[in-house]
Amino acid sequence: MYRPELIEHLVRPQNVGELSEPDGFGESGHAACGDVVRFTVRISNGTVAAVGYKAYGCAPCIAAGSAMTELIQGESIIRAAAISREDLRRALGGELPEGKEHALTLVLDALHRALEDYWNREAEEADLVEGYRG
Ligand SMILES: [Zn+2]
Repeated sequence: MYRPELIEHLVRPQNVGELSEPDGFGESGHAACGDVVRFTVRISNGTVAAVGYKAYGCAPCIAAGSAMTELIQGESIIRAAAISREDLRRALGGELPEGKEHALTLVLDALHRALEDYWNREAEEADLVEGYRG
């Protein structure tokens, strides 16, 4: 039913957990299966220096979260944000079983929220600095 690449991530999920004091936090949930995926990221010099993920839910969600951490680790945030459904699907060995494609959506959504959270914090900091100067 599942491809070997997906099973590998299930058996040995990568970067499980939550970073303390992350630069970005994002969570996404899917009501139908009760899945929740959560990403925490640490950004250094515009690069994803560390990433943690937690997933509660079906097997493809857990595997997709793990695969995503491997795809973005060490990448620039621009590249991390540009990772597509297709990239993630490929990392899992191809098509997911019917009805399980939501795992891709969920993981992409949670990651984008974490990156957005980082960008928002950066923007706030920039405002503060400007206010201070003024
Ligand atoms: Zn699910």
